[in-house]
Amino acid sequence: MLLLTPGPVMTRPEVRAALAQDIAPWDNDFKAIYARVLERVRVIAGGIQGEHVALPLQGAGHFAIEAAVRTFIPPGRKVLIPATGRYSESMIRLTREAGRIPVVLPVAPNEPTDPLAVEAALEADPSISHVGQVYSETGSGVIHDAVAIGAAVRRAGRRMILDAVSAFGALPLDLSRQPEIDAVVFTSNKCIEALPGIAFAVSRIDRLNACTGQAGSWSLDLADVLSHNGRPRFTPPAQIVAAFDKALDFFDQEGGRAPRLARYTANAHTFYDGMVRNGLTPWLKREHQGPIIVVIRAPNDKAWDLQKFVDALKSREILISNFFNTPTPSFRVGCIGAITPDDMSRAVAAMDAALKEIGITRREAACP
Ligand SMILES: *Cc1c(COP(=O)(O)O)cnc(C)c1O
Repeated sequence: MLLLTPGPVMTRPEVRAALAQDIAPWDNDFKAIYARVLERVRVIAGGIQGEHVALPLQGAGHFAIEAAVRTFIPPGRKVLIPATGRYSESMIRLTREAGRIPVVLPVAPNEPTDPLAVEAALEADPSISHVGQVYSETGSGVIHDAVAIGAAVRRAGRRMILDAVSAFGALPLDLSRQPEIDAVVFTSNKCIEALPGIAFAVSRIDRLNACTGQAGSWSLDLADVLSHNGRPRFTPPAQIVAAFDKALDFFDQEGGRAPRLARYTANAHTFYDGMVRNGLTPWLKREHQGPIIVVIRAPNDKAWDLQKFVDALKSREILISNFFNTPTPSFRVGCIGAITPDDMSRAVAAMDAALKEIGITRREAACP
């Protein structure tokens, strides 16, 4: 089966094989793996040794985003959240439920956040302490300019939390040049091409030390994670960490972040062009199309049924999401994971056949 979901992604058999062992998480052998993984993560983030630290958190990306919000934003304080789509909605909700106040900045659903709009919103309200930005909006495929938005945050003297869950390991990131970032957050099962089960935040040590005791949660307190000096606080998914370590070996073998981004970009181009040739309408204009996920507008045909389409693809050994995150009907195809442009070409051909099978005759979208 070819998995074309933007997380969890296709993994290599060697990465999956790393799960097949019993591990005692408190044993000295595991300690070394744990420490090595955290160090490798800090380096990929461009973190400075002694200034930045990678902190693990058991579970999904939402847990780590909530932990970052709780750790760095004092209760009752405001955070500006550009409304990029599905994942800004998550951040808005968990911020509100954590007793912090989200201030929503409207953003067009198929365009990047305007850094000048962020700057203006911060100028207009000095009581906003943070900006919560999604780097790669997995709901739409739009990449938001984390460097330019970060510069606006820095100029305004505020702090930033960056949701890089579907960006980390592929899109550029250099924390040494973005001191305004309190935390960049990601998970094991997206661009690092490992298995789901652990999330990470990379943070400034001075900020963590300045923010102790305000999380209002023990489980989701990154300052508390730091106080354990890289030892797990609660049972870690040790096999998942071992598989993550193996996935990082393949990351290094590929040549690191830039070659990985180049492969994903080739995947996205191959798929986007193939869908246009198939007569379908991408959600995004080419100039706004990012390399992580391509969203295609539903054909304007009465026979369109996403689940039937998904099932017809599945019988051709290709699996895509059976839901969409855009304001109008669409389907989403991940371009990340252990996959190549050849796989994307295979998907293009399979989709052509699947559309015929479910009886679609009009392929263009209702509202391009
Ligand atoms: C996948 C993703 C998340 C987190 O998802 P979980 O299901 O909680 O792991 C958060 N933000 C973005 C942009 C994502 O792509």
